[in-house]
Amino acid sequence: MTMIAITSTYCKRGMQILSLISFFAWEHLTNLPLNNGLVFFIADLLALDIDGSYRHDKDPLPECIYDFGWNKAGVDIGIRSALICPGCIQRINRKNMSLNEKGLFNDLQVILNDLGNASKWETDIIDYWKIHKVNAERHVHTQRNTQKKQKGVGTSM
Ligand SMILES: [Zn+2]
Repeated sequence: MTMIAITSTYCKRGMQILSLISFFAWEHLTNLPLNNGLVFFIADLLALDIDGSYRHDKDPLPECIYDFGWNKAGVDIGIRSALICPGCIQRINRKNMSLNEKGLFNDLQVILNDLGNASKWETDIIDYWKIHKVNAERHVHTQRNTQKKQKGVGTSM
């Protein structure tokens, strides 16, 4: 990850050892936090690991994680949308995915949902995850207390 300009943000997928991600001129493309951008690019790499057979290249669709990204300004709508378009979902669903790929696809869906929800409200994804982790822990704590009360555990009768 660098703030230095590189000639192209696209990296050869054949190497799969090193990915260069440049945030050069980020502030001119979006006002979203760099953390959201980093998660977006990680999601992009994950999406290509699941299915690297297609990119929106000649017909750009910046809302879809499978957009090639020729238009760098599309990163803003891409992060805020954080979605996989219907055509790409159909292509992936037709694919005979391994268990590992199915797990990665589930993870990708969770990441994109969180990224889109955070970005729509101009929230740093790290803050979003902190808030929702606390809420999820509260929910589990409330559920446990409700179950204890229903079973009469921990209550004096
Ligand atoms: Zn698509």
